[in-house]
Amino acid sequence: MSADKIAGDLKKVLRPQAVFEDEAGRKECARDWWPQTLWWQENKIAAHTPDALIKPANAEELCRLLQWANDRGIAVVPRGGGSGVCGSAIPSNRESIVVKTERLNKVLGMADSAVTVEGGVLGGDLESYLNNRGWSLQHFPAALDISTAGGWIATGSFGQFSTLYGGIGDQAKKIEAALPDGRLVEVEPDDFILSEGTLGIVTKVTLKIRRLPEKYFSLSCEFGAISQGLDFVRYLIRSGIRPAVTRLYDQMEARAGGMARSKYRLINDEAEFKLRCCLLKHLNLVRFLRRLEDKIRSPRPWLLVMVLDETQAQEAEHLVKLLKNEPIKADEKAGEIWLAKRYQWNTDKIMALFNQGCFVDTLDTWAGWDRLGRIYQETMAAVSPYALVMGHISHFTGEGGCLYLIIAGRGANPQDSIYRHQTAWRLAMEACIKCGGLVNHHHGIGFAKLPWISHAYQNSRLDGLRARKKIYDPKGIMNPGKII
Ligand SMILES: Cc1cc2nc3c(=O)[nH]c(=O)nc-3n(C[C@H](O)[C@H](O)[C@H](O)COP(=O)(O)OP(=O)(O)OC[C@H]3O[C@@H](n4cnc5c(N)ncnc54)[C@H](O)[C@@H]3O)c2cc1C
Repeated sequence: MSADKIAGDLKKVLRPQAVFEDEAGRKECARDWWPQTLWWQENKIAAHTPDALIKPANAEELCRLLQWANDRGIAVVPRGGGSGVCGSAIPSNRESIVVKTERLNKVLGMADSAVTVEGGVLGGDLESYLNNRGWSLQHFPAALDISTAGGWIATGSFGQFSTLYGGIGDQAKKIEAALPDGRLVEVEPDDFILSEGTLGIVTKVTLKIRRLPEKYFSLSCEFGAISQGLDFVRYLIRSGIRPAVTRLYDQMEARAGGMARSKYRLINDEAEFKLRCCLLKHLNLVRFLRRLEDKIRSPRPWLLVMVLDETQAQEAEHLVKLLKNEPIKADEKAGEIWLAKRYQWNTDKIMALFNQGCFVDTLDTWAGWDRLGRIYQETMAAVSPYALVMGHISHFTGEGGCLYLIIAGRGANPQDSIYRHQTAWRLAMEACIKCGGLVNHHHGIGFAKLPWISHAYQNSRLDGLRARKKIYDPKGIMNPGKII
């Protein structure tokens, strides 16, 4: 069916104002924040542009749309804030409709330490609503302002305070979804977590909320080796101390975030930004400077940043005593800097880097305690010839944590940058898998990780998703080409 015919027919089924035909709007849906798409040329964008863009006003209109598409076997791709970094909200190149949930954005009410919202509500709007009433979600992904509740569920999002509060799967009490056959049903939250729009569209979510803390305690300390830092965090967690924010940074990311003692500043003025872009072209020089500085300055390159909220006053007191007895330096400064700058890494900065011919990408891996150190070392070694790598470990549980790597670089020309970007990404995935890690923690799979999907989930989650696909979406119209 042609794009005109799809849009024309949909205008008879939905209100005409729900159907958006303009090319620019549809082309925007051919990208999310998967950095590879920033290299895409016109022909590639055109191939992924949906035939129609629909913004339903309410769940009932959405159900009518789904039923219509299901009857005709037309693909439907749900899209929240479009902040995903793996290309999972981008249509695959077949006849498709993108459904943007931006009009399903109401906060429906608060009761019993929980809030119920529509699936398209933006995280920043929801948090402001709660804060004005003395409450908080305590779910703080770095893209809070541009991501939605439905997107969090679909990607299994984790926020910065997750070592205490867990990920969105731990926060979600109830989920309502619109299914391809047009029904609106309450579903098991665990069924839809990490489903990336392949089962149905999340229309309503009930999430746990907490009293807005008035006070935070921040602490930090340094370690000579990744293994020492990990041992310390494991000891804390196993003794029942879970600082809400627990992040173990390598020196390079600590510096880039302005937290290390060398007092490197953020990329916040043009001259410094240009200098960094230029340095990305000369990886050997950067590495030499880095080694020199390491020698002169810091025998303890790993920085552990911890932030506890006021419900954790006792743990904070205990931790201060514990750190005093340790032969490691402890102070409050790095934690305070972290709190002040925790949203520093945003889409404007990603875009500015690409505009300078550089690339930057992120990889969220998960592994047990005994494997994290090796994954870090091996990935560093594999990727370093092509890009700079830096990272931190966070989102800890009793079993392990998430190693989050940032890769950045710049080739001699755009083709070389694309080659380096793709090679660095592939080598990072392979190194992680070789060391027994999972290549997904909270970003999802999308197009980005599809070739490595069998190394992306714990236990039998992939089998579970496949089984649920047959139940919820037997005709396979929901976000085809992703996961299943
Ligand atoms: C700068 C930056 C920082 C980030 N930091 C974090 C972070 O700290 N933690 C984190 O977890 N993520 C982070 N992300 C990734 C991203 O914000 C998350 O993946 C987020 O959960 C995506 O939500 P969204 O509404 O933007 O979804 P989209 O990008 O629009 O879609 C993502 C997936 O969810 C599906 N989907 C969207 N809405 C629905 C719905 N209502 N029902 C069913 N399926 C739906 C889509 O089909 C797609 O498969 C970051 C991204 C950026 C750009």
